[in-house]
Amino acid sequence: MKTILYVVFIWASTFLFTETTTLKSYSKQYYPTKELQNKFKKYDSLFAQHPEFVAKSFDFPVGKPNAKGYYNAQKFQVNQHLGDDWNGVGGGNSDLGDPIYSIANGYVSFADDIGGGWGNVIRIIHKYKGKYYESVYAHCDAIKVRIGDFVTKGKLIGTIGNADGIYLAHLHFEIRDDIFMDIGPGYSNNTKGYLDPTKFINEH
Ligand SMILES: [Zn+2]
Repeated sequence: MKTILYVVFIWASTFLFTETTTLKSYSKQYYPTKELQNKFKKYDSLFAQHPEFVAKSFDFPVGKPNAKGYYNAQKFQVNQHLGDDWNGVGGGNSDLGDPIYSIANGYVSFADDIGGGWGNVIRIIHKYKGKYYESVYAHCDAIKVRIGDFVTKGKLIGTIGNADGIYLAHLHFEIRDDIFMDIGPGYSNNTKGYLDPTKFINEH
């Protein structure tokens, strides 16, 4: 009897050990480091407190909901572009000052002028079906939101600009599935962390 109990004990402890090890390695893959896990905690807590701002679907950032009156002059990965460039069909600077809308419910994580080729930039974090995405709106003429604002889909967040006259007015727009990246280079053939914005919006 003692032997049987001993065998059962060994079997049970092996099972428990295996499951713990498996779950731990799974969560390690999902949140690669402790640091990353802590970074997500901030947004988990924000959206838990404000569940009405969890995203349900995504629209285009201009001519809402379907970019009516606008065209994508430089699509994702054309010339290694990491986003879309939205322009008014009128061409030139005809779209200067036109409204830019939040593509979904979310949380404004950044809204400021960073100069260089970027100008005024708005960054919004979206929680959608348990995952996080970020939308980035650049070269804005005006910024209509502040860091820490919660926004709903279709809310006016800024206007189309030219980054202080560097370009003809247009919206440089990115969607990322890594929400902790720096502002980035705008162009690269390394698309890790970046999604094709038009494809993503059409599918979600
Ligand atoms: Zn661009």
